[in-house]
Amino acid sequence: MRIGFGYDSHRFAVGRRLILGAEEIPHEKGLLGHSDADVLIHAICDAILGAVGAGDIGRQFPDTDPAYRDISSVVLLERVRSLAVASGYKVCNVDSTVIMEKPKLAPYLPAMAENIAGILRIPAGWVSVKAKTNEGMGLVGSGDGAAAFAVALVEGENAGQESASPA
Ligand code: MG
Repeated sequence: MRIGFGYDSHRFAVGRRLILGAEEIPHEKGLLGHSDADVLIHAICDAILGAVGAGDIGRQFPDTDPAYRDISSVVLLERVRSLAVASGYKVCNVDSTVIMEKPKLAPYLPAMAENIAGILRIPAGWVSVKAKTNEGMGLVGSGDGAAAFAVALVEGENAGQESASPA
């Protein structure tokens, strides 16, 4: 078994949809990014990539590559899962926290967890999505942006041997 950790942050911008955990959340602003800026899925991608020793989302899907412009983060997580599977690992569980001041995410957390579990092809109960504010502190606290943290556990027959090959 191996564990991975992921972190991501994005700025809010007007005229963008707010997509978190592949769920569109009604809000007057969305997160700015090269893709759909799903900060939660990006953190989860990094956690899984870290667990299998395959670097991070920036290495696998460079934002200098026009192929990834406005790409759905669902596609990125599907590719990350495939990469893990191809490397001999399956994702066991994911725990995550999104940090933003507004909007309140509690009503959307079950749907976000279900979406992510569906993409990873694991039971919904194996994906945990939590939400916090930053108590008004810093850039996230001022409402300028959002951040997410995630950990992922993977299990593989080749665990303890070679790590996944780099991109
Ligand atoms: Mg990102």
